[in-house]
Amino acid sequence: MSTRRHDGPNHQLRFDHGTQSFGAQDERFLKQLHRWNEQGIVDHWPPDQPGQWVGVPAMNAPLRSMADALDVQFGSRVEGILPKGEDYRLYGTEMDDVDCGHVVVAVPSEQAAELLREVDPVASALAEQAHSSPCWTLILAFDQPVALQEDWFCDTGIIGRASRNNSKPDRGPAECWVVQADKGWSQDHLEEHAVLVAQQLMGAFAQCVGGKLPRAVHHAVHRWRYALPEPVKQDFIWDRSSRLGVCGDWLRGPTVEDAWLSGRLLADAMMYDLQVHA
Ligand SMILES: Cc1cc2nc3c(=O)[nH]c(=O)nc-3n(C[C@H](O)[C@H](O)[C@H](O)COP(=O)(O)OP(=O)(O)OC[C@H]3O[C@@H](n4cnc5c(N)ncnc54)[C@H](O)[C@@H]3O)c2cc1C
Repeated sequence: MSTRRHDGPNHQLRFDHGTQSFGAQDERFLKQLHRWNEQGIVDHWPPDQPGQWVGVPAMNAPLRSMADALDVQFGSRVEGILPKGEDYRLYGTEMDDVDCGHVVVAVPSEQAAELLREVDPVASALAEQAHSSPCWTLILAFDQPVALQEDWFCDTGIIGRASRNNSKPDRGPAECWVVQADKGWSQDHLEEHAVLVAQQLMGAFAQCVGGKLPRAVHHAVHRWRYALPEPVKQDFIWDRSSRLGVCGDWLRGPTVEDAWLSGRLLADAMMYDLQVHA
């Protein structure tokens, strides 16, 4: 649920370059979405797909809102978790060591497998089973609107999904598109040079609009190496004796809703145990 920003010639350019929109079926998640909706943090999009949501004014708005209540260190990478007496020590780059009594690992399965190897080999082995498919993504800004009636489309040639970002609520006027390659093409071209990937995705997008694109004022590609996991179908992992929890989309299912529910259910289990032992 991330957003990239870039200074354009006249306006700021904004691209939701991961999740384009997300659905909700579970009552608990719907309730949270309605609360966020009242606060102006999420809204419905696209209009022709009832039940789909986006963050406002950018996809990461719900995350920012949740982070507000916490002491979050952005830009830090945890490289390892070490047992320290009864507790844990986290160490990494761009961060001081952190000693803590409880740890929650909420990162993609490939990274979770690495982090959990020493402290929870069983959870680490489970994470190794959840392979993720990649997604090459091209972001594009134009000096004029692209001549397409639709604001999004799916499964056309090598394109898995393309969205006109500025058609989402509160994104500003600059014409910005996010073009995501499909799973198979992304896998086959995983190690391709970014310049060649950009050329091929741009060509595929141009074909979709009859070969005529306006002048691009900005473009970049991003390789999501771990985009969509094959989940292991377990809500979360929690070991009350070691006080180590694991959540994320690779456990429950490959959607925003599943990721939120996995975290929420883990939090409920932890709260229950903390109250029992309080
Ligand atoms: C291209 C793309 C398209 C998608 N489309 C959709 C869609 O249409 N609908 C939908 O519902 N879902 C979609 N998803 C899936 C959805 O985005 C995920 O399911 C959801 O974001 C997973 O949330 P998470 O918290 O489990 O993990 P993530 O969102 O992956 O969050 C993990 C966080 O941990 C951080 N991190 C990783 N390793 C470390 C470390 N060692 N130290 C510190 N931090 C670390 C990462 O930087 C990241 O911020 C899409 C995902 C991608 C990539």
